[in-house]
Amino acid sequence: MSAFVRHPASVEEAVGWLASIPGALPISGGASLMAMINARLVEPSCLVNLERLEELRGLSLQADGSLRIGAMTRHRDIAGSALLVGAHVLLRQAAAVIANRPVRNMGTIGGALGHADPAADYLGPLRCLDAEIEIAGRSGRRSVPMSQFILGWYETALAPGEIVVAARAPPLPAGATLYRKVARVSGDFATISCALRLEEDGRGTTARAAIGACGPAPLRSETAEELLRGGLGDAEAVARFGAALQAHADPIDDVRGSADYRLKLIPRVLASAIAELTGADRG
Ligand SMILES: Cc1cc2nc3c(=O)[nH]c(=O)nc-3n(C[C@H](O)[C@H](O)[C@H](O)COP(=O)(O)OP(=O)(O)OC[C@H]3O[C@@H](n4cnc5c(N)ncnc54)[C@H](O)[C@@H]3O)c2cc1C
Repeated sequence: MSAFVRHPASVEEAVGWLASIPGALPISGGASLMAMINARLVEPSCLVNLERLEELRGLSLQADGSLRIGAMTRHRDIAGSALLVGAHVLLRQAAAVIANRPVRNMGTIGGALGHADPAADYLGPLRCLDAEIEIAGRSGRRSVPMSQFILGWYETALAPGEIVVAARAPPLPAGATLYRKVARVSGDFATISCALRLEEDGRGTTARAAIGACGPAPLRSETAEELLRGGLGDAEAVARFGAALQAHADPIDDVRGSADYRLKLIPRVLASAIAELTGADRG
C-alpha cells in the first residue's frame, strides 16, 4: 500500500485534507477499509486518520434529551453503554450482535455509516429511531435525517471530502424494543434484520419498524405504521403491515440468501418480532 497517513488534530483539519488531496479517504477503525485496500477494491492516495479527534468520541445525552454518538465511538462501547435507555436501547441491541469481539473492538459507528453496507446492523435501528446524521465538510456542518442519508447501494448523502461527525437520536417515548438479526451463523452479516420499537401515544400502541438487508436502505413505512395503530394483536393487520414493507423491498441474491427468500422472510420476521414484543408468542 502506497498511501500516506495524516493525523489531523481537528475536524476542520481532517476535512481540509480530504478536500485538498485527490484520492484521500477517511479511516476510523479500519475494519472494513483495510480489507478493501488489501483486496485492491480501493486504492486511496492518502488516509486521513480520525483517531485523535476527541470531538468524535463517545456517547452523550444532550440538553433536549437527544442522544449523540460520536462517529469514532466503537461498537463495543455502544454495546456496553448505560446511557442507552428507553427506545435508544435498540442501538445497544444492534451493536452487541455485530460480527465478533475483534470487529466490535475495532469498528466505529461513523465507519459503518460511511461504508453503508445495506446489511450493517446500525442502519435499521437509526432509521427506526428517526435519527439524524451530523456531517462536516470544508464548507461547514449540516444534519441529514437517516431517511435521506442512504441514496443507493453503498451510496450516501456524504459529498466528496465530507465525514460523519455523529449520529443523533431524538428523545422518544419509552417503549419495548427488539433488534432481530437473521444470519446464516452467529457473527455473519444479516440475511435480513428487523429493528422494532413499540410506541404508545394515547391513541393506541403502534409499531415503528425498519427492515435491513432487503434493499440499499432500511425499509420503513410511517403510513403503514399508522394503519397498524391499535392492531398489534390482529394477525391480519400485522400481515398487511408486513406486506406494505415487502412492497418497497428491493433485495438481491447473494451468498447470504436469495432475493426471493429475503422477500418471504420480511412479513414473517416482522410478525414474529411483534409477537415477541407484545407477548403474543408466549401464550
Ligand atoms: C469480518 C467482518 C465482519 C463484519 N460483520 C459485520 C456485521 O455483522 N454487522 C455490521 O454492521 N458490520 C459488520 N462489519 C463491518 C464493521 O462493523 C465495520 O467496523 C464498519 O463497517 C466500518 O467501521 P470502521 O470504523 O472500521 O470503518 P473503516 O474501515 O475505517 O472505514 C469504512 C469506510 O467508511 C469510510 N469512513 C470511515 N470513517 C468515516 C467517517 N467518520 N465519515 C465518513 N466516512 C468514513 C472509510 O473511508 C471507508 O470507506 C464487519 C466487518 C468485518 C471486517
